[in-house]
Amino acid sequence: MIIKPQSLVIVGGGTAGWMTANSLLQAWPEAHITLVESADIGIIGVGEGATPFLKQYFRQLDIPESEWMPACDATYKVGISFENWSGVKSAPSYFHPFYSVLDKPPADLFFHNCGLRRRGFDAPANPNDYFVAAQLAKNNLSPIATSTQSIDIDYAYHFDSVKLGQFLRDKAKQKGLLHVVDNVSDVQIANNGDIKQLTCEKNGPLSADFFIDCTGFSARLINKALKRQYLSYADTLFNDAAVAIQTPYEQGHSASNQTRSIALNNGWMWNIPLTSRQGNGYVYSQAHISAEQAETELRQKLQIGDDAEVSAKHLKMRIGRLQEHWHANCLAVGLSQGFIEPLEATALMLTQFTVERFIACFAPQQSTITKVKNDFNQQLNTTFDGIRDYIVAHYQLTQREDTAYWRDNKYNNVTPDILSAILQAWEEGQDVERVLTHHQEKLVYLRPSWYCILAGMGRFPIDLKPTSKAADEQQAIQYCQKIAVQHFS
Ligand code: FAD
Repeated sequence: MIIKPQSLVIVGGGTAGWMTANSLLQAWPEAHITLVESADIGIIGVGEGATPFLKQYFRQLDIPESEWMPACDATYKVGISFENWSGVKSAPSYFHPFYSVLDKPPADLFFHNCGLRRRGFDAPANPNDYFVAAQLAKNNLSPIATSTQSIDIDYAYHFDSVKLGQFLRDKAKQKGLLHVVDNVSDVQIANNGDIKQLTCEKNGPLSADFFIDCTGFSARLINKALKRQYLSYADTLFNDAAVAIQTPYEQGHSASNQTRSIALNNGWMWNIPLTSRQGNGYVYSQAHISAEQAETELRQKLQIGDDAEVSAKHLKMRIGRLQEHWHANCLAVGLSQGFIEPLEATALMLTQFTVERFIACFAPQQSTITKVKNDFNQQLNTTFDGIRDYIVAHYQLTQREDTAYWRDNKYNNVTPDILSAILQAWEEGQDVERVLTHHQEKLVYLRPSWYCILAGMGRFPIDLKPTSKAADEQQAIQYCQKIAVQHFS
């Protein structure tokens, strides 16, 4: 049996720190938990889109949407619209929905038609036609059913990240967490390799059984003090910087229910709708464009010119992951453990997985601490790499070649193995299901997501033969429309 820590110090008060604090307080109410954060360094203050897993996070904490959503200016999210990504003139954009059980009948028609089309038959295979969430997005309908029938669709959220941190901070303090505002200036390591204690500038030494590094990209404990190795994803993911600008809604406009991801000249731009404002940003590669050029291009897209009143925040991103997220008596959570660029808004999901799996390691079991740690680290690495594979697919499946950035991505000859295998099966008319099943333990994104991206990027032969075997896409559209109208409007 592995012994639970009695006392823990979390360093960092960004979203990762406060999410971790709440999960630990919930799971181990008897533990002494301290969170120390620096007022001088501050938080990254971006990261406003989530995946459906955030629903479970709040459910576990027993915090209803009616409480946290208004406090964080949150809106519902039914998926992401990928605009101008494919490079195919007739269908430059597609929608990546959150898949629900309700989608099974039309999704089966979609899979069938994709199978025909990739073998050279003219079957309609636009992903936008086959998922209920795409209809909700098109008509800006809430994913909360209005009908009395019990009907469930998966969804996520957009939120103000600063307000989310403050909300979770207040919750954690109510549950007895000790909050220290100070800079950690030194980390002392014991002879056995554990962290012995931290030194804070004003408050002096801080000891605990276990330490959690939520210090963001600086990775103060796990990288700087414990010197754990970082595996860069720069060979397949070129974006390493971002510029973010917040804008108000134009009069008469209100929040929509989808994230927009719009491909630009040297990266892509996000648009995230909150109840109070919109979050926008340009994620780009510094090797292809300067920070100044990126800001100018983003301002043009937002039609705000060089209005000095509207400030821009520039950020550098370290893309990759640790080899060991848990080492000695230290766990890294959040940006300190790794980051995959925010194209599918997966960072908070990874924070959630890390903490949940860490807590689960202390359930009664026969394994040794070494084995538990190794399995934990391996599992997280697989999850990070699985997300990386799907994100890389966006850059390597696109047919855009209009700038050096898109050409460098498209013709990058480093391709993750699983992506290569899926693409090869898809393009050579082989059994894609077999490849997905073969790799299922390493996949984070499942069949509907892979089909949506491959079809959405137009990875089909150009010359198509007529076929009588295609499923009628009108049948799928009508099914999705009917559900949207009957239950969500
Ligand atoms: P931070 O917010 O950087 O917090 C670090 C904390 O550590 C701060 O409190 C800081 O003061 C403290 N600290 C550091 N050093 C010390 C020290 N020596 N002593 C004391 N305290 C210290 N995620 C999503 O899920 N969805 C998104 O849509 C999304 N979009 C993103 C867009 C961009 C451009 C970027 C860069 C990230 C995005 N993310 C997104 C990631 C998300 O922002 C982070 O995962 C999230 O904010 C958590 O950050 P963090 O808490 O790990 O780090």
